[in-house]
Amino acid sequence: MSNVPVAVVTGSNKGIGLAIVRALCKQFPGDVYLTSRDPGRGQAAVAQLQQEGLRPLFHQLDIDDLQSIRALRDFLKEKYGGLNVLVNNAGIAFKVHDTTPFAVQAEVTLKTNFFGTRNVCIELLPLMKPYGRVVNVSSMVSSSALGGCSQELQQKFRSDTITEEELVQLMTKFVEDTKKSVHEKEGWPNTAYGVSKIGVTVLSRIQARLLNEERKGDHILLNACCPGWVRTDMAGPKATKSPDEGAETPVYLALLPSSADAPHGQFVSNKTVRPW
Ligand code: NAP
Repeated sequence: MSNVPVAVVTGSNKGIGLAIVRALCKQFPGDVYLTSRDPGRGQAAVAQLQQEGLRPLFHQLDIDDLQSIRALRDFLKEKYGGLNVLVNNAGIAFKVHDTTPFAVQAEVTLKTNFFGTRNVCIELLPLMKPYGRVVNVSSMVSSSALGGCSQELQQKFRSDTITEEELVQLMTKFVEDTKKSVHEKEGWPNTAYGVSKIGVTVLSRIQARLLNEERKGDHILLNACCPGWVRTDMAGPKATKSPDEGAETPVYLALLPSSADAPHGQFVSNKTVRPW
């Protein structure tokens, strides 16, 4: 088994994830795994970084596929005995003018952004080594979508005692409500992506609380963040940040020094803790 520290970035064959891998290859003292659901796209991205003189490693990972997540988990357990840095970056967004029915957009978006990210956490968080760092890439859209929720929902999503089960129930209810076209009446905002990212931010707050309760002595720091508005296939060419600039906050959180005890359980953008 290798004693080398190891970092994994989900959805890193392009966009912000690729830029996070690039930065970690330069700054993280260990092995950095570029992961992709499609091995061809993943290997092409590895080759691109190799051309830049960097040495990322590759592992397949589709966060929608439990078998794929578990294969990565078993690989990390066997080769490294755990994991030091996990960046949950993989995500999807329908384009604004996409005509796919809203209920379908809701189901598909929540499946990857919330349930897929949660499944990665279920399988990989138990592997986190002491002083490990976990970064869940959310979005400022989670804050604006929270503001668009009913007072009752806002209270639940801001609660310091909400459980993971309650959050899963709420995310499932959103998808069901869109199918019945009652989501707005039930207090939801009209954004599937926004609700999925509310899920990611609130999940991060819950996970940080559980780490405090169950692994206090391990000094693991877990946060949600927004990378900013970044020029990728998701956000388009008009966005203000380059992918490397978008990687800055996630990488800052992934590389918090071992002496740090904060931020933890926070929503961070531009390296600054934001109110939730
Ligand atoms: P992107 O260029 O579309 O890249 C998304 C990445 O996620 C791709 O590598 C994609 O792989 C991967 N992915 C999607 N579904 C996956 C799955 N089921 N399993 C594994 N990988 C999967 O988007 P981006 O802008 O870099 O976004 C990265 C993250 O930042 C997302 O979580 C996004 O919500 C968040 N974000 C972006 C912005 C922005 O302005 N760009 C702002 C706020 C937050 P494929 O190539 O196979 O599709």
